[in-house]
Amino acid sequence: MRNEHLFASLDGARNIILESVPVMRTEKVALADALGRVLREKVVSDIDYPRADVSSMDGYCLDSRLAAGASSECPVTLPVAGKTTPGAEPPRAEPGTCVLITTGAPLAGGTDSVVMYEDVEEKRGAGEVESITITGPVPPGSHVRRRGEVIGEGDTVLEAGQVVNPQVLGVLASFAPGPYEVSRRPRAGVLATGDELVPSGADLPRYAIRDSNSPTLAGMLAEAGCDVIRAGHTPDTEYGIAQDLERYSDCDVVMISGGVSGGRFDFVPACLERIGAEVVMRGVKVKPGKPVLFAIKGGTCYFGVPGNPVSAVVSFLMLFRPAVLAMMGRSDCLPVWVTAKAAGAFDKKSPYVSFAPGVLGSDLEVRPARFLGSGDVMSLAGANALVCVPAEVDAVAAGDTVRVYPFAPFKQGG
Ligand code: AMP
Ligand code: MG
Repeated sequence: MRNEHLFASLDGARNIILESVPVMRTEKVALADALGRVLREKVVSDIDYPRADVSSMDGYCLDSRLAAGASSECPVTLPVAGKTTPGAEPPRAEPGTCVLITTGAPLAGGTDSVVMYEDVEEKRGAGEVESITITGPVPPGSHVRRRGEVIGEGDTVLEAGQVVNPQVLGVLASFAPGPYEVSRRPRAGVLATGDELVPSGADLPRYAIRDSNSPTLAGMLAEAGCDVIRAGHTPDTEYGIAQDLERYSDCDVVMISGGVSGGRFDFVPACLERIGAEVVMRGVKVKPGKPVLFAIKGGTCYFGVPGNPVSAVVSFLMLFRPAVLAMMGRSDCLPVWVTAKAAGAFDKKSPYVSFAPGVLGSDLEVRPARFLGSGDVMSLAGANALVCVPAEVDAVAAGDTVRVYPFAPFKQGG
C-alpha cells in the first residue's frame, strides 16, 4: 500500500480515486435504450433545424416588397392564393398574391415574410379568406424562423461525457437518430461484512442487526447508473471475506461495508491484499466516514465504507459516487455544492471536515434534520442534503452561510 495516502483530505482522497479508476468500455445503444447512459462520442446534427424557412405565427406569407409602401392611408390588398401547412411541401406563391400559413409551416416559394392574421383585414368569400388588406409595412423576414437557425447540419449538439436524461433524449431524437456510443453500465456488487448482520426478512436472533447497508448501497449504485448483479453479507472471517471477494471478481465495482477500519475484526484490508488487490487509499479526514478504503485489481475497483449506515452513505456520496460516475465517463462527476443559509445550529465534534444531515428548502435555507449519530439509519431518510462544516470551523450557528450537498429533491412546503 502507498502509505502517503493514509488519512488523506476529502478532496485529496477523491482526486486519488478519480485518477485511478478505469473508464468503462463502450457499446452502441439505440435511442430507446439510451436513457441514463453516458455518451462517449460527441453528437453531431444530421440536419438543419428548422429544416426550411418556416413561419413562427399563423397568418399569410408574402413577398415583402408587395407591402413595402403599405399604410392606413395607402392600404395594400392581396388575393390569398393557396395555403402552406407544417410538414408538407409548400406551394409557390403566384406573383402579386399571398399564401395562408400556419405556425411551423415552410414559407411558400417566392415569399420572404409573414404577416400575422391579427394584423390584417380579412375578406371572406364562401367561408374562405379570399383577400387580405395590409395597412403597415411588413419588413423582410418578419415572423420567419430561418433554416438552420436553431442547429445547423454538422453542428455539435452534445459533447462526450453527457448523461442522457429525458431532455437529452429529445435532442438525440431530433438531430441524431443513433445508435450512440455509450459507456457500458458498470457491473456492481455489494458485500456487507459483519458477524452481527442478518438479511432483512430472515430470522432475527436476539442482538442481531438487520443489514440495511446492502439495500441502500445497491440503491445508490443503481441510481448512479450501475447494474447491481450481486448483493449479500458475509461474517467477519478473513477466509470467508476473501472467498466472497473472489466471487465478486466479475464486477467492475465492489462496494464493501464494514470491517474496513483498524479493529481486530476488520479483515477487509488484509483480504483485499490476500486476493491480490492493491490498496491505493485508506482513511480520509472526514466525519463521519473516516475509515474508507479504495483498492484495485485488474478492472475491478473495491470501495470500502464504514458499517455505520450514515457513514456508509456519506462516504459513498462524497467519494465513491463520483468514482462510479468517472468510470462511466461522465464529465460532471464532482459533487455539486449549493450555498445556503443555516436555519439552525450544526455542531461538530471532530477536527475534520464534518457532515450533518439537513433539510434544504426551496428558499435555500437548510435546517438540521434529526441526527442521533452515525448509526441513526432514520436520519438520512428524513433529510435531503448534507451540510458541510469545514475543518477550520468549530460550529455553524443559525444565520451562517454553509455549503450544502443536495442528494434528494427539495421537500414540499419549504
Ligand atoms: P463496522 O464498520 O464494521 O465496525 O460497523 C460499525 C457498526 O455499524 C456496527 O456495529 C453495526 O452496528 C453497524 N453496521 C455494520 N454493518 C451494517 C449493515 N450492513 N447494516 C446496518 N448496520 C451495520
Ligand atoms: Mg463490522
